Amino acid sequence: MSDQASRKATVDALFQKLFPICRSLTGDGNRQTFDIIGELAPFDVHEMPSGTKVFDWTVPDEWSIRDAYIADDAGNRIIDFANSNIHVASYSIPVDAVMTLDELSPHLHSLPDQPTAIPYRTLYYKRDWAFCITEEQRALIPSDENLRVVIDSDLSPGSMTYGDKVLPGTSGQEFVFSSYCCHPSLGNDNLSGIVLLTMLLRELSSRTLNHTYRFILAPETIGTIAYLHEHQDAMRQVTGSFVLTGVAGRGQYAYKQSLQSDALVDRIARRVMRGRNITFAERTFDPHGSDERQYSSPGFRIPTGIITRDGYYDYPEYHTSLDNLDFISCDALLETLDIYLCIVDTLENRKPLRSLAPNGEPHLGPRGLYPTVGGAMHTSGSTNVEKELDAILWTLTLADGIKDRTDIAEQSGIDIGLIDAIATRLIDGGLIEEVQ
Ligand code: ZN
Repeated sequence: MSDQASRKATVDALFQKLFPICRSLTGDGNRQTFDIIGELAPFDVHEMPSGTKVFDWTVPDEWSIRDAYIADDAGNRIIDFANSNIHVASYSIPVDAVMTLDELSPHLHSLPDQPTAIPYRTLYYKRDWAFCITEEQRALIPSDENLRVVIDSDLSPGSMTYGDKVLPGTSGQEFVFSSYCCHPSLGNDNLSGIVLLTMLLRELSSRTLNHTYRFILAPETIGTIAYLHEHQDAMRQVTGSFVLTGVAGRGQYAYKQSLQSDALVDRIARRVMRGRNITFAERTFDPHGSDERQYSSPGFRIPTGIITRDGYYDYPEYHTSLDNLDFISCDALLETLDIYLCIVDTLENRKPLRSLAPNGEPHLGPRGLYPTVGGAMHTSGSTNVEKELDAILWTLTLADGIKDRTDIAEQSGIDIGLIDAIATRLIDGGLIEEVQ
């Protein structure tokens, strides 16, 4: 079997094994998920007790569910949790009652515009219960019978499971890859993110790395806030991050910019996707979406980019039962994996330039670096000498220890060959250095 065929078989097996599991903010489904992905990638798994204060939040009680159904007078199950774990809103409290359809209706969610779809709903902090059903199922519930309504669940103190892994490098720069493990049987959002994070960690864990890469898999929002709380000092030093979500659809790629819009992660993501001739829409940051909101909060401000292939909100199947294994594709996931591996290679191989004379512009003349007699030139000149001066001034101005030759060429619009030659001349002249 070729490497690619073997990776595809691994991804397919992960999709099949992980999709049926009932995940939530907490519970055994999340532990089972870590057991399965732990066979492939070395996540460290942690438990945080219910009631733990993390910044403005509190880790919730643990939720477990064994069974749930709505049955007619004769005991026939019209709605059965066994058929779909999104039939019950996540964190529904237990119920065992007989009621009419009128009494049940406030607890039913369906989608009139998508009659065959079950909506995905959560009740994390409400202490309520609800069933999510298709419009077609709703029409089958008799209005003139006593209905038996059962949710066999528990909501009691336990713990929240999350995983991480730090692959240490030597450069002092750290990047984060993050995803979330709280969605039950939903494919692109976000089984695809879990599988991609697993495959990426699996591939990188055997490499010698220049930079440090931190992998985080936690429940969305509360899990990420808890993680930030537990690793405040380290997370405030992170150079950039990517949230892995919605990465295996069959539509077009999109890139959601970081809050900073032109941070290193933005430039590298664009460069890699363009370099691979991928057509993608680009969106500016907004605080809706996923954990980019936590990483971008004022206390952390980690530049966070998101590459999606059918991203959240973009497709009608989003947060419904139609976002299933048929919606996602192993090939799409592997293509996104290749993009991320290329991003890592680019980060590993780039050599940022740092000025050794950063306080005002250095005096070029005495160093023999000023290309000609000064006075008449403008930086947008067209002679070779003028172009060289232009490249020198841009390189000195942008040599901040983060930008590399390609960044400088992109920002200045100057040919990379000339920037490369000028950078070498400035390094030889002792004005800039390459940062490892
Ligand atoms: Zn979601």
